[in-house]
Amino acid sequence: MPEVVILGAGLTGLSCAYNLEKHGFFDFQIFEKDSYPGGLLRSFKQDGFTFDYTGHLLHVNNNDFYNFLKDISDINNFDLVTRNSAIFMDNKIVPYPFQMNLAGLDTNIIINCIYDFINKKNIKVKSFHDWAKKHFGKSITKYFFDPYNSKLLSYDTKKITPSWTGRFVPKTDLRKLLTGALSPDFSKNIGYNSQFYYPKQGGIQFLIDNICKKLKNKIYTNHNAIKIDFLNKIIYFENGNFIKYKKLISTLPLNSLLDKIEERSDTNLKILSKKLLCNSVINFNLGFNTNNLGNKHWIYYPEKQFNFYRIGFWNNINPNSTPENHTAIYGETSCLSGTKTDTQIKILKEQLLEKSIEQALKKLNLKQSNIATKNILHIKHAYVIYDFWREKNLNQILKSLEHLSINSIGRFGEWKYSSMQEAYLDAKKTTENLLKTLLFDSNINISKRRGNNEAVDRIL
Ligand SMILES: Cc1cc2nc3c(=O)[nH]c(=O)nc-3n(C[C@H](O)[C@H](O)[C@H](O)COP(=O)(O)OP(=O)(O)OC[C@H]3O[C@@H](n4cnc5c(N)ncnc54)[C@H](O)[C@@H]3O)c2cc1C
Repeated sequence: MPEVVILGAGLTGLSCAYNLEKHGFFDFQIFEKDSYPGGLLRSFKQDGFTFDYTGHLLHVNNNDFYNFLKDISDINNFDLVTRNSAIFMDNKIVPYPFQMNLAGLDTNIIINCIYDFINKKNIKVKSFHDWAKKHFGKSITKYFFDPYNSKLLSYDTKKITPSWTGRFVPKTDLRKLLTGALSPDFSKNIGYNSQFYYPKQGGIQFLIDNICKKLKNKIYTNHNAIKIDFLNKIIYFENGNFIKYKKLISTLPLNSLLDKIEERSDTNLKILSKKLLCNSVINFNLGFNTNNLGNKHWIYYPEKQFNFYRIGFWNNINPNSTPENHTAIYGETSCLSGTKTDTQIKILKEQLLEKSIEQALKKLNLKQSNIATKNILHIKHAYVIYDFWREKNLNQILKSLEHLSINSIGRFGEWKYSSMQEAYLDAKKTTENLLKTLLFDSNINISKRRGNNEAVDRIL
């Protein structure tokens, strides 16, 4: 029986394996349901175009993560790109972020936003909607934060908490607001995603391929965990295999992990799985036989008239992702997960694809005959909904799992909004803590055998 079992070989699971091996610890096994590791970090080639499961850009501001990227591959294999993103609103393109770039919009919108920013009230914050009003005023909330976020999440912004905003939503002040209202400036480097790294070749999967090359332990693919006996610490797989574990690191979506708890286990965790809300993203990719779609990396579409909330431009993110003289986009639209059956999702995908393609072509001044290739992808777990139930209960669920020797980590394991960098850092922290515990336990055993507590004292 391995000391540690890792479930899921997405970036978090693979980073756990990488960090364990880095510490010289090989007594673990890693299992993945799909036939290839990577989870959401997947790229594929189609008719000469390379597509990811929507844009996956590496925002790096942590040395450990940077060193990790350098260790798995020469950093020169990545481009460092300065973001050029925008918002489409009121038939105009304005620079992102909205809260400091009003120039170009209708005069009434600008006046309302500035007036309400100056007169914003120190209201009691319960929801994200309140938080936006408190920090940006009611007009900026009305024109951008509410419509964009409710479209992205497929959820009411009055029913979610602001606890995820942190580094993701840059604040503004009157000087910045006025400066940005007088002249548009697409060159401003503001916010956590103002620069990004992206692999020169192979899409974001380049990252996964290189971690896999580094790992010595085998990755057990085609191992779909279907049931977990928490009492006897056994995981059962769809292919008939099973494995006993001492410590389990799960990177599965938390709701799906809870679902797998065997009924007779002495816990009521299973029934909580339905309470955890997230959205699903439907991602369409289009390759074009034309070579000029502007210079933006992506554009946000907060208005209801568009199906998609964002369109990204593959060729600007990475020129190697399209054949010469070609361009490509990704579009993203969302729906609340669990609210639709598989058949309904299939119909929705087809309708959305058709309508979204029509809208995207119109916006880009292109025709059906410009489409060189297309595909549509369904990302079942995409953005976690920070509703009030989650806020109240999530920590308790994670703690209960820890008591059962399970660390549930990663974007969906911890049911949170987080990036690739955090996936790596979560894994690093978890494995380091785990190794400390294992060392502690083994020293207790040794000292018990020796009949003294010297070793324990040394560690403490
Ligand atoms: C739409 C979208 C856009 C994003 N864009 C960015 C971006 O631009 N920049 C950025 O830094 N981050 C981005 N992210 C976040 C990034 O994708 C995640 O942080 C990262 O992929 C999380 O990795 P993970 O390993 O925790 O999860 P996952 O990638 O979901 O990995 C979990 C793994 O578990 C496996 N698994 C599931 N069930 C089972 C089972 N029953 N048995 C065995 N294995 C199982 C899955 O197949 C998968 O391989 C984005 C996320 C989304 C949804």
